[in-house]
Amino acid sequence: MMESLLRHMVELTGQRDHNLLDVAVISALQETVGASQVRMMDIFWVSNQAMMRPRALITNNTVSAVHDSTTGRRGDTPLTHYPILLDCIEHQGSRVEETGPDGETILWIPIWQNDVATACLQITGIARVAPATLNVMEGILSVYRNYQNLLDYSERDSLTGLLNRRTFDEKFSRMANFQNVRDSHLAPGIERRHPNDVEGHWLAVVDIDHFKRVNDQFGHLYGDEVLILVANLLRSSFRTQDLVFRFGGEEFVVLLRSVSLTDATSAFERLRTNIEDHYFPQLGTITVSIGFVSISASTPVVILGHADQALYYGKSHGRNQVCFYDELVRRGQLHSEVNNDHAEFFFDS
Ligand code: GH3
Ligand code: MG
Ligand code: MG
Repeated sequence: MMESLLRHMVELTGQRDHNLLDVAVISALQETVGASQVRMMDIFWVSNQAMMRPRALITNNTVSAVHDSTTGRRGDTPLTHYPILLDCIEHQGSRVEETGPDGETILWIPIWQNDVATACLQITGIARVAPATLNVMEGILSVYRNYQNLLDYSERDSLTGLLNRRTFDEKFSRMANFQNVRDSHLAPGIERRHPNDVEGHWLAVVDIDHFKRVNDQFGHLYGDEVLILVANLLRSSFRTQDLVFRFGGEEFVVLLRSVSLTDATSAFERLRTNIEDHYFPQLGTITVSIGFVSISASTPVVILGHADQALYYGKSHGRNQVCFYDELVRRGQLHSEVNNDHAEFFFDS
């Protein structure tokens, strides 16, 4: 027991990825309590209704599903389908047991982060768990929580709490590679087209308009406050599965997955108007310019370069607008030659 526990702890703390960390913790728990199945689910709220989304599953020592929480809405279930768990969460409980349809014992364990249940575990097919084993489980979960906080800390920007540039590089190169493999069957030279209702992935670069003036008039510290507020507007303008990064000073990047062009356009428009409509104390209002592009089979540098080109088209045509790269190229307003000389070029306005 001691030896396998140590092995699991080493495994757990060796992970640099949230999904693999989830898998490590559910396999540690499965072995410790001798369960036939352990599931990990995200808990999130959609207009005041608590929802559950599968994240990782292990059955009889086999990881049979790992869901990236950003891939979509498959398997979302209202928490009201699990009244016993819902009741436990409403009472801030640490665990609850019930008997399943086949007479098996099911143990539910919400995972709390600052008084909010952000995830939960469902452990199935166990005998009555001895108090000593429960203690060991709690210990494993504490290590998991601490370690998850540490991972979060390294992935996020300290001013705004958004994902940082390093995390962007990691996630985006993975996403672009995946897209390349998927698109490799397309004939060379034929660019993937997105009819308006076909789902695709999108990258947007968001840059605050005339931000230097904010610093000049109100000082850098006030500028930082504005960045925090803009980050909050970014977060609240998108769904939980969309990824929002602070890319540099007052530049942000948004990755939208599995949405149509129509939905992507309206999401970015919504962000633009949310910011335009927000009243900032003393300052009044500010605007942003947004350039976006479909994530096609191309290198991350090229994709990002295209989004930058669209952004700077917007900057030089009145600011406070959303520009879609492919559309600008189609209209002949931008030229599509690949520019591998670094994105910096476009920032030098
Ligand atoms: P534009 O509309 O062309 O984007 O004009 P801009 O003034 O926003 O120009 P640009 O994006 O090139 O300049 C960004 C400015 O943002 C430069 C710097 O003073 C400020 N800035 C960058 N990072 C930070 C930060 O972390 N905190 C604060 N307060 N200001 C920052
Ligand atoms: Mg800038
Ligand atoms: Mg700017």
